Amino acid sequence: MPALRPCLKVALPLPLPGLFDYWPDSPETAGIDWIGCRVKVPFGSRELVGWVTALGPAQSPEASVKTVAQRIDSTYLGTDEWLQTLRWTAQYYHAPLGEVLHAATPSVLRDGLGLPETCEYQWQLTALGQSQWRSLRKGSTLRAMAELLVKGPCMEAWLKTHRPGWRAVLRKLESRNLVERIAGVPQPVKPDCAAPTLNAEQQSALAAITERQTFAVHLLEGVTGSGKTEVYIHAIEACLAQHKQALVLVPEIGLTPQLLSRLQSRLPVPIHVLHSNLNDTERAHAWAAMASGRGRVLLGTRSAVFTPLPEAGLLIVDEEHDGSYKQQDGFHYHARDVAVVRAKALNVPIVLGSATPSLETLHNALAGRYYRHRIVQRAGTAQPPSIQIGDVRKIRLQHGMGQTLLEGIASCLARGGQALVFKNRRGYAPALLCHDCGYTALCPRCDSALTVHSGQRRLHCHHCGHQKPKPPACPDCGSLALQAQGFGTERLEEGLSAAFPDVPCLRVDGETTRGKNGLAKQLAKLGKHPGILVGTQILAKGHDLPNLQFVGVVGVDEGLYSSDFRAHEKLAQLLIQVSGRAGRSEQPGHVLIQTHHPDHPLLAQLLSGGYPEFATQALLEREQAELPPYGHLALIKAESVHSDVVRAFLEDTCKVLNDIRRDKAMTVHNSGALPAGMPRRAGRYRWQLVLSSASRADLQRLLSAALPAVYALKSARKVRWHLDIDPIDFL
Ligand code: ADP
Ligand code: ZN
Ligand code: ZN
Repeated sequence: MPALRPCLKVALPLPLPGLFDYWPDSPETAGIDWIGCRVKVPFGSRELVGWVTALGPAQSPEASVKTVAQRIDSTYLGTDEWLQTLRWTAQYYHAPLGEVLHAATPSVLRDGLGLPETCEYQWQLTALGQSQWRSLRKGSTLRAMAELLVKGPCMEAWLKTHRPGWRAVLRKLESRNLVERIAGVPQPVKPDCAAPTLNAEQQSALAAITERQTFAVHLLEGVTGSGKTEVYIHAIEACLAQHKQALVLVPEIGLTPQLLSRLQSRLPVPIHVLHSNLNDTERAHAWAAMASGRGRVLLGTRSAVFTPLPEAGLLIVDEEHDGSYKQQDGFHYHARDVAVVRAKALNVPIVLGSATPSLETLHNALAGRYYRHRIVQRAGTAQPPSIQIGDVRKIRLQHGMGQTLLEGIASCLARGGQALVFKNRRGYAPALLCHDCGYTALCPRCDSALTVHSGQRRLHCHHCGHQKPKPPACPDCGSLALQAQGFGTERLEEGLSAAFPDVPCLRVDGETTRGKNGLAKQLAKLGKHPGILVGTQILAKGHDLPNLQFVGVVGVDEGLYSSDFRAHEKLAQLLIQVSGRAGRSEQPGHVLIQTHHPDHPLLAQLLSGGYPEFATQALLEREQAELPPYGHLALIKAESVHSDVVRAFLEDTCKVLNDIRRDKAMTVHNSGALPAGMPRRAGRYRWQLVLSSASRADLQRLLSAALPAVYALKSARKVRWHLDIDPIDFL
């Protein structure tokens, strides 16, 4: 029998499972040199760009298989490990490989274009420049630039970040034939600032991380300000000394500027950046620099975890517990978990850093799978903050704050310090209520109350973006007694400005920190002067506020009694992170947590033994309840404008799952179709189904067996549905 002619298996960016068959454009035969190359293919009436990821016999009659329209790449752009990790990711998250590739690549590649040139350029003095630079006027910008170049050629990437206005100056010098631009290999640039000497705990963590260059997961657990970043920097230096690449992931764009400037001032190579606030060209450039092996250090958010790293030496995930690592739309993945899998595939060490490790990571460390390094001492002379509970039962509140909290702020300001009031809700107030009839302003499109905003002039929905002016009177009874209920950051700002009129009060939330470096700009307004910051969790993260001496936390009570099994973990992390903002320099810090539940066990645990004590207890509870990290979950969520259609789809899905489960005797629990926590959002009805099992393998096998049938369901075509493996939010 003649061997079957192999065809190309192409991954296309479509929400459909499996690969698609195409013939190579004749007269070539499909060989392994096609794998990893992009092709343009006809699909229905469209032409799509896809990736050839395998070869094999056609799934359908050979005559029905179409031919690729064009082969785009003659050679492979990624690396074997890269494609292998993406395949693993697609399999683990049960996502179409085409969608994974879509998330993993910059738009130029998805559009079928080529990667930009990543050759690095540098500037140097010409022979004429060498002999004549002294004739430039002393103190002029031209002279300063020439003096810099006397020391040696300078990379453009370095100039870009260190010498604003460099291009114009160099063009002037170039027009006088004093300097020239040459393509060149990056020369090490001398870092701007010296490294502090690591303390014993930092040293021992660093020694363990750099001891072997093979795969190992290191949990670097240190309170905020303990000098974790300093350990990262030293570890990256060691990685660079081995001529290897390093990848640093941060949870949010807001955190990149501060870390970027720190890395830039300390490392002798240009730092490439990858996050969603860049334009397509910038993203393509950073991606190409790393993929070509020329780029040495990449600092990026979530999806940067998918960048090819042909010479990888080290991966770092900062604030590893942070929920932003979880992609919640489309192809759902967890960047930290992918990073660990990648480090294994790359056979390099990975560092997970946090003051408040996720229970998953902690569990792995306790089980001996991860190395655990603790930094208990704060770096330098900083002292840990003192934490106190402010019982506000029966206490009269002013602007939502008790007397103790206001006194704390006052005495901090009197010492010349800065105070922070933390409230995890933006806007003026979370609800608008009619005092006469009980009417509450609800979003017409969501099952949710509208938030009062803009000095009580407008109502916003935080879930769908719906906005309208605040009605002058109650729409139900006509009464004028409409009252804002509860407190958001805007209302606290109003109250604090009134209570402390002599100092600036700055609000830091999603609204006031929009735009490039919005947060840094907002914080710069205060500088080191006495003043008050009011803000949401944006402030809880990694920012150095050296003069912050007092932190008041308002409104933790909702998190103490939530139905989400992760609510306590999130709250404990938040409280520790916010507290960590205080007292980062010589001044001691004080933290006051205001609550109506002063005896709640979570608060008691945090107070007596900090996060580790809370975590130990929480792990025990999770074990008893067979919840993650002891049990494993998958969520199938669906939505549609018609409630009955969503329900029908999930009921059909349930049936598919149950039939297979019974057939194969798998120990997976199926919750059945349930309305989501918010049953209607943006006009769409939302239902979900939770699968849980003590065996990850059983859960995976069930999904692998069931999903083809779920995709094929008639009812699946009428809804938007997603599978979320290891879900962290049940909204
Ligand atoms: P983390 O990342 O854990 O929040 P950082 O690395 O940002 O901590 O360190 C907090 C501050 O302490 C920084 O200003 C840093 O420069 C300084 N620092 C870190 N390690 C040392 C050390 N060994 N000696 C002196 N200062 C240090
Ligand atoms: Zn009313
Ligand atoms: Zn809404």
